[in-house]
Amino acid sequence: MTRIHVAPVLTMDPNRPRAEAMAVAGDRVVAVGTAAEVRAAVPAGTPEETHDGVILPGLIDAHLHMQRGGLKALTYLPDGAGLDEFIETMDRTFHDEGWPRAQPPTLDERVEAVGVAQSLFHQLGVTGIVDPATTVDEMRGYQETHRRGELTMRTVAMPYLELGSTATPDVDAVIAHLEGTGVSTGFGDDELRIGPIKVYADGEALKGQALLERPWDESGYLGLQRISDEDFARLVRFCAEHGWGVGTHAVGGAAIALVAREYAAAGDAVAQRRFQIIHGYLEPAPETIAIAARAGAIASLQPSIIWHNGAGLRAALGERAEHANPVRSWLDAGAVVAFGSDGPFFAFDPRHLMWQAVTRRVRGEDRPLSLDEAITVEEALAAYTTGAAYAAFAESTRGLLRAGRLADWALWSDDPTTVATDELRALRVLRTDVGGRTVHDVTAR
Ligand SMILES: [Zn+2]
Repeated sequence: MTRIHVAPVLTMDPNRPRAEAMAVAGDRVVAVGTAAEVRAAVPAGTPEETHDGVILPGLIDAHLHMQRGGLKALTYLPDGAGLDEFIETMDRTFHDEGWPRAQPPTLDERVEAVGVAQSLFHQLGVTGIVDPATTVDEMRGYQETHRRGELTMRTVAMPYLELGSTATPDVDAVIAHLEGTGVSTGFGDDELRIGPIKVYADGEALKGQALLERPWDESGYLGLQRISDEDFARLVRFCAEHGWGVGTHAVGGAAIALVAREYAAAGDAVAQRRFQIIHGYLEPAPETIAIAARAGAIASLQPSIIWHNGAGLRAALGERAEHANPVRSWLDAGAVVAFGSDGPFFAFDPRHLMWQAVTRRVRGEDRPLSLDEAITVEEALAAYTTGAAYAAFAESTRGLLRAGRLADWALWSDDPTTVATDELRALRVLRTDVGGRTVHDVTAR
């Protein structure tokens, strides 16, 4: 059944950034334009809903551990708890993995966890995610949720085969595992798809494990390299030749340089299979950023990490921390930037993250990080929509509102691009639809 939604539309479509109305039939947008154009495009008498608010494309969180977040929610959140309680609880239990029971979660518990988490994220206008490190058990959890027809969050799951574990002790074992089933990156559909594999090049910045080009301190310590140059090169080459994408955790400049170099050697596969540089936030050299962007790598960046780590990095690195998370530089180099949160461990509220990317504010400090790397609200929204859609293999189906696209959209209380910057965080998401189906709705009827 066709329906017209009348409200200002922020389409994220460069050909037509703003519209007055949108028509949806089944799971698709069928018209976007002036109210008159939209009415003319659908049968006479099509029902209309007039909304108080602004319609945006559904957001895509390009780095969300959704199932783990759901398991944490099952552990800590009382039944029926709302979004604010979820945000507060995840913040309070930041350092806790959140599965205190002796037995690992059952498949039913995993399905329940996905259900709880997706409904909370729909309340933030999120209609799609990339889960950046999906274990075999988590893959089963997503698949079972999908099989039961209960997966309302469009999910791209990035297989994580832990190098050095008993199952995959070395790169040969990882390669054998990847070859074993015949599927590869991109397999699936708009509801559930297999993404690139997840690999770690270095460690975490606040643990002093980001692999830098200049030492952390006078001792000459450079950080932790988690995979040798040779192994990484071999794994990337295998993936490029066998239909697998690679998403590499690379925080420090030297790790990012290694990844950029190997991606540059991998050719067309980088764009085809959506290779990612994940985090990419601590002292990447301008040449490194240029090489990665030219190679077609996606910069998968998380304003949340710098929000949490900014003060600690200033304490450890002084002035060197000021340019952390250089979103402006990645964009100016022509890289596709996809925003995500690394939630639910890091802050995951997209209103807060967009505000961070614009203001460069960090937790616990009055002084923002260098504004040289600040971006606009429009750019932040693009990173959450068109950029993240590209990372999710969905640039032709999602990320913007245009006739023919999936009807993934949200009704916001106001236009994020016109409210005062400090009001961004107070916006509310009143309704969210995924494929034309309403998955969140607090509009007064
Ligand atoms: Zn993560």
